[in-house]
Amino acid sequence: YAEDDKSEDYLFKIVLIGDSAVGKSNLLARFARDEFYPNSKSTIGVEFQTQKMDINGKEIKAQIWDTAGQERFRAVTSAYYRGAVGALLVYDISRRQTFHSIGRWLNELHTHSDMNVVTILVGNKSDLKDLREVSTAEGKALAEAQGLFFMETSALDSSNVAAAFETVVKEIYNILS
Ligand code: GDP
Ligand code: MG
Repeated sequence: YAEDDKSEDYLFKIVLIGDSAVGKSNLLARFARDEFYPNSKSTIGVEFQTQKMDINGKEIKAQIWDTAGQERFRAVTSAYYRGAVGALLVYDISRRQTFHSIGRWLNELHTHSDMNVVTILVGNKSDLKDLREVSTAEGKALAEAQGLFFMETSALDSSNVAAAFETVVKEIYNILS
């Protein structure tokens, strides 16, 4: 155990993207503060939140960016993506339209950031079992075709939320180390 290793600085910028109301802000709220907002407005949340994580004994700071609702106007700016090394590309498993939008978000991500940005496709709201419109198999297939990681999450019941963020951060760390 080397004390110096702990103080080494890793700061990874990670962006949350996807259609309005898929649960981006709540995924961040659940991960960073263990909070959930049943009726959240797109204005809640901060520009970004920095979360300390421990990966292989290294302290890593994940700087996670959330949109302020500007995705409604299809106007997420290039500044949002600048310097990003990771991305969570989120859809809502209970709204097929949000799954259809994934291709467009992927294009936008690749237009504004490095092609090597570590990306996970996230099917959020897995708790809404009776309202499901996108199967797990479809999500998996799209992720495989596009070379993305994949996970279904629920910001409501917490399932896989930390795992989704950790998957991205671990992979970035592995690439850089
Ligand atoms: P954003 O526009 O993508 O940031 O979405 P929000 O985080 O603001 O969430 C939009 C709505 O979906 C809110 O009413 C949330 O309470 C709800 N929501 C977010 N995540 C989940 C989830 O995992 N399960 C359920 N059932 N609702 C969720
Ligand atoms: Mg939001």
